[in-house]
Amino acid sequence: MPDIVVLGSLNMDLVVRTSQMPRPGETVRGSGFATIPGGKGANQAAAAARLGAQVEMVGRVGQDPFGPVILENMRSQGVGVSRVIADADAPSGVAVIVLDAQGENSIVVAPGANDRVTVDDVYALRGLLAESRYLVTQFETPLPVVQAAIRLANEVGTPVILNAAPALAVGTDALHGVQVLVVNESEAQALTGSEVSSFTAAGEVGRQLSRMGIPVVILTLGARGALLVTSDQAVHVPARRVDVVDTTAAGDAFVGALAVALLRGMDLVEATRYATCAGTLATMTLGAQPSLPTAEQVQAF
Ligand code: ADP
Repeated sequence: MPDIVVLGSLNMDLVVRTSQMPRPGETVRGSGFATIPGGKGANQAAAAARLGAQVEMVGRVGQDPFGPVILENMRSQGVGVSRVIADADAPSGVAVIVLDAQGENSIVVAPGANDRVTVDDVYALRGLLAESRYLVTQFETPLPVVQAAIRLANEVGTPVILNAAPALAVGTDALHGVQVLVVNESEAQALTGSEVSSFTAAGEVGRQLSRMGIPVVILTLGARGALLVTSDQAVHVPARRVDVVDTTAAGDAFVGALAVALLRGMDLVEATRYATCAGTLATMTLGAQPSLPTAEQVQAF
């Protein structure tokens, strides 16, 4: 039985570099095309597995050529995929990513099969959820499905870690039953309507989310680390200064590592520090999943 069930997206990232972004109607030359497995759900599952947890992924891929590649990649990272459905009626989720010479990116995400995960897929998980220690989920599968999973996890007594990403302006109701909420600045802003323009503002927004009844709120603050807010404490965990190569999946590394740290019995501050280290390590290598650190690397760091 798994330690952690991850309900979420599995994508193939189609990445191409160009010296200049095309304008509408324009064709430009690109280079260095690569297909790289991604999706927040899959990245977080891989992050937790890399750190030694038993992880089971729940979601959908298509029956197109990307589907088996995505699944094989999950398996090779040690993530269980027997609960991932190969959907006959939709392509696998893809993110088409164009990187320019200045390091700016333009991204189009076509969710495909990720949008076809159903509430019934979730109801089939009761036994699995009951026996696992944490449910980790995000907002890259339909909201009613995420909410059904949170309700079911609550029913069977499995704590929920929600990474409310990408930014979505959902009501407080959608956060009901979540034990640990992880959001970056723009996601926190979407949930509260309050701007996170400064460090002080981040603290305010953290307390605002905490007052909504979420026991543990963690705001990730990029180079500034993370802010842990509960009803009785607000603790800033700074990130170490490093040479940043690529921040893709830093947030996903953070969430996966947080789940593993809690699983290992670390207290909240210690777990936030562990996750912050994992997030920072993920910024030091290129790519999403290739940059996810191992337990030895986080310890050493
Ligand atoms: P997201 O990628 O979801 O926007 P953040 O940018 O807040 O999330 O990054 C998540 C975590 O990754 C941070 O809490 C921090 O630990 C680490 N991190 C991100 N950017 C940097 C950076 N420039 N320097 C050091 N650590 C970073």
